[in-house]
Amino acid sequence: MSAVLNDETDNKAVEKIAYENNKLHKRLCRLVGQAIGDFNMIEDGDKVMVCLSGGKDSYALLDILMTLRERAPIKFELVAVNLDQKQPNFPAEVLPAYLDKIGIPYHIENQDTYSIVKRLIPEGKTTCSLCSRLRRGILYRVADELGCNKIALGHHRDDILETFFLNMFFGAKIKGMPAKLVSDDGKHMVIRPMAYVKEVDTERYAEVKQFPIIPCDLCGSQENLQRKQIKALMREWEKKHPGRVENIFSALSTVVPSHLMDRALFGFTDLKADGLANPLGDIAFDEEPCSTPATVPGIIPLARE
Ligand code: SF4
Repeated sequence: MSAVLNDETDNKAVEKIAYENNKLHKRLCRLVGQAIGDFNMIEDGDKVMVCLSGGKDSYALLDILMTLRERAPIKFELVAVNLDQKQPNFPAEVLPAYLDKIGIPYHIENQDTYSIVKRLIPEGKTTCSLCSRLRRGILYRVADELGCNKIALGHHRDDILETFFLNMFFGAKIKGMPAKLVSDDGKHMVIRPMAYVKEVDTERYAEVKQFPIIPCDLCGSQENLQRKQIKALMREWEKKHPGRVENIFSALSTVVPSHLMDRALFGFTDLKADGLANPLGDIAFDEEPCSTPATVPGIIPLARE
């Protein structure tokens, strides 16, 4: 009798896990699809180079884009690209084996940027800026060689918010990480289809799908301490103040230039009262109703989970 009960309990637990995993997959597809639609990231006939580092986020990006391509009413191509930077102990066989298994066209670009960075940057100094500059140039070239008109990166919502806070705290700028922007060489369209996805979801998805993760510390560089602190702060907010991080993220798409102080964004100097009532005008002595949702025309706050 108790063995039967145990079996039933086990079955229910398995069903629950399968249900949760399916829900996660659907959520990722919905959010990635929403970001692609909102920013018109992918169009008919596009050839998208999906940058695959071997980390959880880029695996999730490729996986979800492959699912969406099956369902999309438009036709577009995907090519996975990994840059093997020749870091010590990089397991070069892992990505080709995975990509062969899932049946996606891919290209592995072998470039020893690791030695260049080691040679040029003195011991103990941060290597990331030169390393990423070299990587960027190589990936732009590879995109051209492969005939890709879009470059997709696996950055998610938390990366965008961390960058936003880093820029504000240490760079004195209101600047995040764009969901879609032309590259700095002016030749490529860079897209971030995971812009609406939370990092906890990519972490769980990587576990569910058992992606063969390649560690990201092979270069020996220390993790950026400031980014780490901001990440910890955001995780604490998520726990203690549910909804706060989501609100901050929604705020990035609900900008009111007249209520900031950037004179290049809003014509403060030539401003004249025209006698027309405007709900976005100054409400003088009243306090801002900060708890009300966005009322800026054309801005639709992201749907809550
Ligand atoms: S962490 Fe290592 S691989 Fe990544 S950008 Fe920095 S130096 Fe390059």
